[in-house]
Amino acid sequence: MSEQAVIDSLAFARNKSTISGVIAVGELPRLVAAVMSDAGGLSYTVSGNVDVRPYLLLKASGDLSLLCQRCAQPFLWHLDLECQVWLAQDERELDAWDREADGLADAMVADERFDWQVWLEEEVLLALPVSPVHPNDGCPAPAGQGQSERPNPFAALAALKRQH
Ligand SMILES: [Zn+2]
Repeated sequence: MSEQAVIDSLAFARNKSTISGVIAVGELPRLVAAVMSDAGGLSYTVSGNVDVRPYLLLKASGDLSLLCQRCAQPFLWHLDLECQVWLAQDERELDAWDREADGLADAMVADERFDWQVWLEEEVLLALPVSPVHPNDGCPAPAGQGQSERPNPFAALAALKRQH
């Protein structure tokens, strides 16, 4: 896995190569530290291409267990990310690009030993919501709430039993 994760990024882009598969969440240690469970995996595709300049395209999707900031219960959050990074041959070329004007916001110097798995992990970490909450106000009702007005019948029964 780790050997496969290292590619020559420029050659990968020029050859229009593609790697895809499923990576276990447990294989991404920094992600494991950021989620509630290391169960499951992420589907990914790393592909290279050239559009005047060479670039890499990353797609990743899967479900990650996050802690809801509203109800403090874990829930499955669906990740679906796609990002593109342009490859410059060296620092000089990267500096020469007018990145804002040319829409090259995400650019890096090409690396003969580029670890796309590290890139994938970084992008997934960046994609995580800062304050995750259940989607569509779907928080499960907390136990006991909404019954504060009326006495809980079981509590009343327990109190009755204690009297005898
Ligand atoms: Zn919630």
